[in-house]
Amino acid sequence: MDALYYDKKLYIKEMPEPDIDDSNDVKIKVSLAGICGTDLTLVNEGNDLGHVIGHEAIGTIVAIGDSVKTLNIGDWVIVNPNEHCGICDNCRKGLYYLCSGNEGDLAIAGLNKHGTFSEYFITKENFVEIIPSNISTEQRETFLLVEPLACVLQGLEKLDTSELKKILVIGQGTMGYLATKTLLKSGHQVYSVDSNEEKVAMLSKTMPCCFNSLEAIEGEFDIIIDTVGNQFELGYPFLKRNGEFLILGLQHRHKVTVNTTALVQKNQKILGSSEYTTHFYDAKKYLEAHLDIQEEVFLKYNLIDFNQAFFEKSSCIKRVFVFSN
Ligand SMILES: [Zn+2]
Ligand SMILES: [Zn+2]
Repeated sequence: MDALYYDKKLYIKEMPEPDIDDSNDVKIKVSLAGICGTDLTLVNEGNDLGHVIGHEAIGTIVAIGDSVKTLNIGDWVIVNPNEHCGICDNCRKGLYYLCSGNEGDLAIAGLNKHGTFSEYFITKENFVEIIPSNISTEQRETFLLVEPLACVLQGLEKLDTSELKKILVIGQGTMGYLATKTLLKSGHQVYSVDSNEEKVAMLSKTMPCCFNSLEAIEGEFDIIIDTVGNQFELGYPFLKRNGEFLILGLQHRHKVTVNTTALVQKNQKILGSSEYTTHFYDAKKYLEAHLDIQEEVFLKYNLIDFNQAFFEKSSCIKRVFVFSN
């Protein structure tokens, strides 16, 4: 089978089709696999990973181990890439993202083991969620957003949104888009910013306050969410007293300068959030109830066109690989 391999550079590698070798294994024929900001960061940093990348996917079950109880061949499922061990101290506390079961780390498909940019993918029964059978073929694609939405939901949970707030979301990649959409649906006043003019024009059709630059924005915000990962200095001046600044994006080399006097005197909070715990299930349930959230977010590529998929300039929210059935 063809797989998108990364070892200092991206290339298609012909690999043997994997088979289940554990009684809890499930084998998935991948249908759609999403490219995430994490994948772009990995590729841009030139790491020598030496495995198949990709961590977001939906597909159908084509084989199951003898002990698998809740899944059947033919079921449509969402891959949960965060394969927490379930038995380390942090897993026992429910802090799955701090799992130390994989040589001190959380095992994440596409990050420290083979990922989902391949025709077939093997995982365990407890790391997939079923897509309900009453969901239409077209709507099924929405569930590719479960993993990024799970990360967003964990981040939002750290914020005080008990009252309706004025919120600024910086960046309209997948996480920024999902944060904006969910906060708008909850009734908050949400402003969003992205440097891509075409994207802003497209999003402005459904998002009331979408801007091309922070310079176009006036006033202060109760909450600011940086989904890019390097926008703290630019966004911070817009934060109100008692405000919360959440950083959701990852830019590994970015260092932040903080005016600590202002931070202390204004009683503000700076927060970070990465990965999720039980939010993967919550995200699936949320999307079941809000299938309209997908709208026109995907731009589809064949695996062979990985260079365009990764590096082409585009105003889409999410680039995805389509695998023929
Ligand atoms: Zn992701
Ligand atoms: Zn663990």
